[in-house]
Amino acid sequence: MSNTEVEPHETGSRVARAPGRVARLIQPRTVPLGGPRGLVVTRTIPDCSLPTVGAWCFLDQGGPEPHLSRLLPHPHIGLQTVSWLLEGAMLHRDTVGSEALIRPGQLNIMTSGRGIAHSEFTPGDEDLRTHLLQLWIALPDAARWQAPHFEQHSELPVVAGEGWRGTVLIGAFAGARSPAAAYSPIVGVELRIEPLATAALPLRADFEHALLAPLGEVEADGVALARGPLLYLGTERESLEVTAGREGATLLLIGGEPLVEGLVMWWNFVGRSHEEIAEAREEWEGRSRRFGPDIPAHGGERIPAPPLPAVRLTPRKRRPELLDA
Ligand code: MN
Repeated sequence: MSNTEVEPHETGSRVARAPGRVARLIQPRTVPLGGPRGLVVTRTIPDCSLPTVGAWCFLDQGGPEPHLSRLLPHPHIGLQTVSWLLEGAMLHRDTVGSEALIRPGQLNIMTSGRGIAHSEFTPGDEDLRTHLLQLWIALPDAARWQAPHFEQHSELPVVAGEGWRGTVLIGAFAGARSPAAAYSPIVGVELRIEPLATAALPLRADFEHALLAPLGEVEADGVALARGPLLYLGTERESLEVTAGREGATLLLIGGEPLVEGLVMWWNFVGRSHEEIAEAREEWEGRSRRFGPDIPAHGGERIPAPPLPAVRLTPRKRRPELLDA
């Protein structure tokens, strides 16, 4: 995805505080992704109270609705993009030569390292009913200058317990590990909870976690969760009981070690300083080889970078005390 929010949006966590066991809702905001038939997504992180959950630094949900994506090539640095569809299909192309059609149940994960560009198009010329989750994972300092690469995983481990089953997108969950490249202690799982079932989900106490309910309704730790907000769960949980409503539910569980590095995020870039971000912007505008060659299918077409804000970009602190109780 390409971030259309161009306001100064600095996020970060200079000092990771283990927040303990909490259950607070992060309310979503609505962001148009651009284009005449582009999706309107709900974004929950980064949030002014909580820029990250583990190394997860961005979470958009779009659809389900008819959609025709024509998202032209745009750059990324310092992150991994994670695309997961609940419905529909999307064609990914990038500047390391990948061309991959993603469908529900498949994982696209693109590691930008020092720089890559990609496009995301709905296959064909017609609107396609699409329900998608798009996330970014911040690369830790030791991994963020690596060469860019792209992976598609169609075979992901499936785990199950009483009343639930899960597909492990990244990291390890309930004894199964995803083949997706991970560069920090992290987890991402799609969970299906059976109607009216109470699932006891095993968690890592040193991770912080958060739960999204793209389909259906659940109650988790006494909090009702339906489509829209993200339920932030803090750390120090070895398990979580989740009870689904009559329709059952499809959930996304994300988590990881609270991030200790201060992130500076602007447009599609994740860095550590204003200067790094400004340099990446200059290089994209100057058609630097940093982001690879033009993608043949798009000729020279691409999304130009917005102007930098007048203020210096700085990391933002975590303020979980501001979340809805
Ligand atoms: Mn993107």
